[in-house]
Amino acid sequence: MSDILDMTLASLAAALKEKKISVAEVAGACLDRMEATEPRLRAMLHVDREGALAQARAMDAKGPEAEKPLWGVPVTVKDALVTRGMPSTAASKILEGFQSMYDAYAVQRLREAGAVILGKNNMDEFAMGSTTENSAYQTTHNPWNLGRVPGGSSGGSACSVAAGQCFASLGSDTGGSIRQPASFCGCVGIKPTYGRVSRYGLIAYGSSLDQIGPMARSVEDCARVLSVIAGHDGRDSTCSPDPVPCYEAGLAQASLKGRRIGMPREYFGEGLSDGVRKAIDGVAACARQEGAELVELSLPHSEAAIATYYIVAMAEASSNLARFDGVRYGHRTADPKDLQELYTLSRKEGFGDEVKRRILLGTYVLSSGYYDAYYRKAAQVRRLIRDELRQALAGVDCLLAPVSPVAAWPIGQHAQDPLQLFLMDAYTCPVNLAGLPSLAMPAALDGDGMPVGFQLIGREFGEADLFQMGAAFERALPGIGSPSL
Ligand code: GLN
Repeated sequence: MSDILDMTLASLAAALKEKKISVAEVAGACLDRMEATEPRLRAMLHVDREGALAQARAMDAKGPEAEKPLWGVPVTVKDALVTRGMPSTAASKILEGFQSMYDAYAVQRLREAGAVILGKNNMDEFAMGSTTENSAYQTTHNPWNLGRVPGGSSGGSACSVAAGQCFASLGSDTGGSIRQPASFCGCVGIKPTYGRVSRYGLIAYGSSLDQIGPMARSVEDCARVLSVIAGHDGRDSTCSPDPVPCYEAGLAQASLKGRRIGMPREYFGEGLSDGVRKAIDGVAACARQEGAELVELSLPHSEAAIATYYIVAMAEASSNLARFDGVRYGHRTADPKDLQELYTLSRKEGFGDEVKRRILLGTYVLSSGYYDAYYRKAAQVRRLIRDELRQALAGVDCLLAPVSPVAAWPIGQHAQDPLQLFLMDAYTCPVNLAGLPSLAMPAALDGDGMPVGFQLIGREFGEADLFQMGAAFERALPGIGSPSL
């Protein structure tokens, strides 16, 4: 990477403000990096080269605005967040060519903070998946090994960040989609507390689970971007009015001394690969060395999390995706013979297989006669999982857990077996069911040279505390470096 691209977001922002480098220079470096790496990585669905450079030149002409925390910083955005002046498709054919008339709240906040948005990241269609292979447009490759998946659904965002195409990206996490790709690509990502970031303008998957969050190359960088995008927005009724702390404050002095860190037994059982276990053991040893106390605890309802998550997520998806009907926006079939056919053919042609599968299952679990057996039961079990996690967190500062039971696997490996993929979400989806925040960051490289991440699960609205612990871990762990591309 060139010198500019080696900088952290925080040091870049400082250099831009001191006019040591220009906004146009920085944007140009990222765009050149994209041009050089995109033929291999395919992390971007849309690159706004001209728009970004024009904005950068205008900013240089006007001069730095000291109060803007992301002034001149190049970022990318997952295609599930709508952006004015660029296409927003959620990687689906049904939204091909769709241009939103407004910005998602989080995107608007990025712009207000002075960020330069370079383009839109590839993802699994409507955020359904764990590999980015479900995109209707292209498969993204892992920058550490081009033959492997980058994770998903925010795989394009993670890949962009890890490959130095941008300094941060926005992703969304319904059952792990920020944390798992961050872990697979060796970057840092946080799924905030439900309600911390407005979902206004996020193309919905499972509305009671979805949260937008930042992905970046360091804990501090993530903290800065979350400080920008969090906060109250009246257009999302589930968005919290609680004030947003400055998440960056005190990170340089953060320590693990005296921290109580819980390790849930169920997250280290059967199914966890040796490579991941070894990496997390290393994190636990580091915590002890830094003066933290490790507390083994049990979360017996964890085994029900995957089943519960997929019932709730698919039920909500079937309802959310009903709006794509070929009438208001998106793909419309060419020559329908009547209204019924307009709906059915538009949806048949527009949605991919995984999306169709989930709409069918979601409709089934909500249908009369099955609602009580599936949806109502899942809602009840969800409450048990949530209460159990909250109770565990009352006695410790955070939970330490793996993100995924395995590191990034070869492209195509699970493509024919969606159920096998669902099992990979065992450690991430309980957090969404409970609405809690969780910070994912690199632990180590495994024997194959692939990144392995760990997560710190925190108390409701405890993001500041997670960043403190994350920053202390980041300093104490050896680090994994960056992929050579
Ligand atoms: N892999 C999970 C799913 O397919 C999580 C996706 C997400 O968080 N958006 O639903």
